[in-house]
Order: sequence, then C-alpha cells, then structure tokens
Amino acid sequence: MQKREELYRGKAKTVYYTDDNDKLILEFRNDTSAFDGEKIEQLDRKGEVNNKFNHFIMTKLEVAGIATQVEALLSDNDSLVKKLDMIPVECVVRNVAAGSLVRRLGVTEGELLDPPVFEFFLKNDALHDPMVNDYHIVSFGWATEAQISDMKRLTFAVNNVLKALFDEAGMLLVDYKLEFGIDGNGALVLGDEFTPDGCRLWDKETRKKMDKDRFRQGLGSVVETYIEVAGRLGLKL
Ligand code: 5GP
Repeated sequence: MQKREELYRGKAKTVYYTDDNDKLILEFRNDTSAFDGEKIEQLDRKGEVNNKFNHFIMTKLEVAGIATQVEALLSDNDSLVKKLDMIPVECVVRNVAAGSLVRRLGVTEGELLDPPVFEFFLKNDALHDPMVNDYHIVSFGWATEAQISDMKRLTFAVNNVLKALFDEAGMLLVDYKLEFGIDGNGALVLGDEFTPDGCRLWDKETRKKMDKDRFRQGLGSVVETYIEVAGRLGLKL
C-alpha cells in the first residue's frame, strides 16, 4: 500500500491517505515532544522503535480480544491502519501516582492506586489538554454515553492485559493514555498508539523510569531505554 496525500501531521506521527478509502498509513517520526509541543527534539531511531513497539503491543491486545486499528507493519516507520473517526479525548488509567496527578492533588509519587484511577482529558494543546468528565463529553457531543462506557471498559481491559505483560518482564505499568475512534461500521476501536511515549513504565526493583519521562526530565538514553523495554518483552529492535 502506497502513501498518498497527507491527512494530518501530529507532533510525532504523520497520517497519510491511501488508495483504499478505509485505510490510512501512520508514519512514526523521530520527533519527540513534551509540554504540549514546547520541547521538541529529533531522537535517532525513535520513529522506528515506536512503530515496531506499537505494532507488537497492538497485536497482543488483538489476541486478547481488544479491537485495534492496526492492520500491518509496512516498513521501519510506517504502519497500515483502519481509518477511524477519532474521539477528541484521551483516556488515562493510573495504577501508581505520578505526573499530573501528583501535581494536581499533592499526593506522593509512587503511591499505589487501588482501585486504579480513570481520567478523561480533552485533546487540545492550546488549552494544555484540560481534564474533562463524562458530562462535558456528552454535552459537547464528543462521544455518547454508550461510547464513554465502552472507552472505560476497554481502557481497563487494556490495563489487565498490559499490567501482566509488563510485570512478567520486570516492569511496573504506572499509567498510560489511550485514544479511541469509530470505524466505518460504527464500532469503537482503539486508535493512535501504545508506546513508551504515552505511558509510564518503571523497573519493578529499582523504579528506574523507562518511558518518555526520560525525555521530559532530561534523564538521557531515551531511545536506548525504549529498546531495553522492548527487549525485556521479547521484541528485538
Ligand atoms: P499525565 O496526566 O500524568 O501527564 O499523563 C498520564 C499518562 O498519559 C502518562 O503516561 C503520559 O505519558 C500519558 N499522556 C497524557 N497526555 C499525553 C499526550 O498528550 N501525549 C502522550 N504521548 N502521552 C500523554
């Protein structure tokens, strides 16, 4: 499948039309951004690593019965995906307190959250992705109540699969962000990506940060650590 016209250029991925109306190509670039695009750097091999990592994780989720948009790995940086009408909210599940939760509520980083916490954020860089709740989402027509309920159910289903996967590989899935869209049949499908750019992973023993916080906090060895995460899961990059 060939890339045609560009549909959308995000901070780390570019989306292209294809000759098939129902399919798009996602190109994972080396661009790495943080703080709503205020800090941007090119990290060698990051696009390739995230493309392959995303394909690996989405395949695990498909096997577990969770519908994803991923169709095929096309090349180092490109994946073929189903075209979705994306819902403009981010679904976050937190197993351990970190990041914006610590800043907002003054809780201690590393505190276990049992049961896990679910949060919605509006995708809007200019507004710094504000937190929203179910009422905002329905009122403004971003999704229906049924879709909200499905997004929560599926985001927790992903937690069950991935928490175990990372645990077996010696890592703690601290939190992560998912995005969903509607396919041509009206079904809710997991879109966007699951990579160390959109989750927090800590080494279980040492609590070493193995995700995009290495970039946000200037800890170095960003791509090398993503490759280590993949290697622990059995994906050689
Ligand atoms: P926080 O709200 O603590 O900043 O983020 C919670 C989790 O969602 C983290 O794993 C973080 O990486 C992910 N996340 C939240 N917003 C974004 C975003 O706009 N882009 C990406 N890539 N990840 C995000």
